[in-house]
Amino acid sequence: MQNDKIRLVLMSCCAPCSAGAIRELANREIAGVDDFIVLFFNPNIYPDTEYQKRLNEQIKYCEKLGVKYAVGDYNHAAWRRAVAGLENEPERGARCSKCFAYRFCYAREFAQANGYNAIASVFGVSRHKDQAQVDTAAEQSCGDIKYLPIKWNEALRVQINRESEFYRQNYCGCEFSMRKV
Ligand code: SF4
Repeated sequence: MQNDKIRLVLMSCCAPCSAGAIRELANREIAGVDDFIVLFFNPNIYPDTEYQKRLNEQIKYCEKLGVKYAVGDYNHAAWRRAVAGLENEPERGARCSKCFAYRFCYAREFAQANGYNAIASVFGVSRHKDQAQVDTAAEQSCGDIKYLPIKWNEALRVQINRESEFYRQNYCGCEFSMRKV
């Protein structure tokens, strides 16, 4: 991809986590990125009412900034089958690796089908997450689509969150993370 312009798929889990990254990309602050789209593919989120709240916030923010977005299928039953046997794993454990990989595999297929050549995510920005775990899952899942482990501007993310009235959840997303709050 050395001489190619970067056409990036940004994987997002929710508006509060992605707000800074989207602003940076929209302001063309990430060197080499020529074009990007926000991909909301989060079948891990439970229940569906919670999924809808997070999706609505994501769409509202993308539309406010005038950036492109796409919404993947919401099939929580299929996601449950993918993590079967890992239900009792702690957050940052093996279930999360599988969950990240599941979503990055979808991003790879999306990128291949839509002419994008790179993938990044905001899956590691929360203090509850392990960025190295996210990066490993991405590198194992993105195949011939380049994974970019971009370090997003944390101060900007915090500032936008302070200024915004985003709906804010208090658990990662799946039913198993609800027990921990
Ligand atoms: S805690 Fe979060 S990252 Fe881990 S499996 Fe659940 S939804 Fe996925």
